[in-house]
Amino acid sequence: TRVDNPFAGAKQYVNPEWSALAAAEPGGSKISNQPTAVWLDRIAAIEGVNGGMGLRAHLDQALKEGATSAEFVIYDLPGRDCAALASNGELGPTDIDKYKTQYIDPIAAIMSDAKYAGIHIVTVVEPDSLPNLVTNAGGTAGSTDACATMKANGNYVNGVAYALKKLGAIPNVYNYVDAGHHAWLGWDSNFNPTVQLFAQVADASGSKSNVHGFITNTANYSATHEPYFKVTDTVNGTTVRQSKWVDWNNYVDEQSYAQALRTALVGAGFDSHLGMLIDTSRNGWGGSARPAGPGPLTSVDDYVNGGRIDRRIHAGNWCNQSGAGLGERPAADPATGIDAYVWVKPPGESDGASQLVDNDEGKGFDRMCDPTYTGNARNGNNPTGALPNAPLAGHWFSAQFQELLKNAYPAL
Ligand code: BGC
Repeated sequence: TRVDNPFAGAKQYVNPEWSALAAAEPGGSKISNQPTAVWLDRIAAIEGVNGGMGLRAHLDQALKEGATSAEFVIYDLPGRDCAALASNGELGPTDIDKYKTQYIDPIAAIMSDAKYAGIHIVTVVEPDSLPNLVTNAGGTAGSTDACATMKANGNYVNGVAYALKKLGAIPNVYNYVDAGHHAWLGWDSNFNPTVQLFAQVADASGSKSNVHGFITNTANYSATHEPYFKVTDTVNGTTVRQSKWVDWNNYVDEQSYAQALRTALVGAGFDSHLGMLIDTSRNGWGGSARPAGPGPLTSVDDYVNGGRIDRRIHAGNWCNQSGAGLGERPAADPATGIDAYVWVKPPGESDGASQLVDNDEGKGFDRMCDPTYTGNARNGNNPTGALPNAPLAGHWFSAQFQELLKNAYPAL
């Protein structure tokens, strides 16, 4: 039987490959002993890419470290990353059988090896996929044909359900399904369909108990907590929800979103012990641009813009954000309903190339990673705020690592 919180009291696995890259950076040894997730971002990653460690090697190393929890990202759906191009993957929209037999089945076979039974294996299941079905699969300005295709052919739903079923059958695996972030799904018109879709997919896996919890902010930059304004604040009688930044969202930060989502999911039939994770690897927003207090009461926009710690140009920006810093260090049980703050996106790994780069990983060029681009419907047609000269998604990006150290909050 599973424990309620796989992070509580656990010694977390430190990935030596990430750790070495971090430690080689000036100042990097301040964080190189932190636990970060291992991304199984293609079939070849199961055995190890370019001589690197595969899943078995990581789990063996976890045993060596005496670790009792380790995090893996399940990330290879057919037609992956349908609303963007930077992390398009190796499988085409109809490759669902390949996903099941060549990706999920081998992962499940390794994870179920009895010698790993003492490790709480945490899986982060398919970032962005179900959220993309909610908001980007038709009928809205931000929709893409690729997402409409994945909704119509059912392969995101089938793939996630299959992963949950196979991995959920292993007693020491803890599945956490990706739930986007507050500035994506926080509006009631997105939030409620999200809850319905999560329930539907979990049921399609055979049982809601295949889902241990959900994770928000994976590889994103939304603040865990905005200390200087709340969604219920008003300025001269006008709600802050009316500000340009909040744009009528029902949430202004990740923790309030994660806790509310948890409550709604339990209401929709998920276990009352459901746990949430928040990826805090890059949402610290410290450094010299961090406000020291609330903004002025001259207007809702002045108040929100003056006080928000999230300094993005627009909350829809997601690629290699300039000004971002490391967030809360990984921690178990940080708040009610939250199993852990985790570093799922390994700090220093790029979100996407800032220009076209030839590659054999299936990755495209997304202009949201280009600092000169003026945006699309999903970021309100704003500049991207991306750092220049970024390599392909997942590749080491030293300048970004330095930016994250510089703007860490809590400071290092
Ligand atoms: C990339 C993956 C990478 C992951 C972690 C994703 O954006 O597509 O290849 O493993 O980030 O850095």
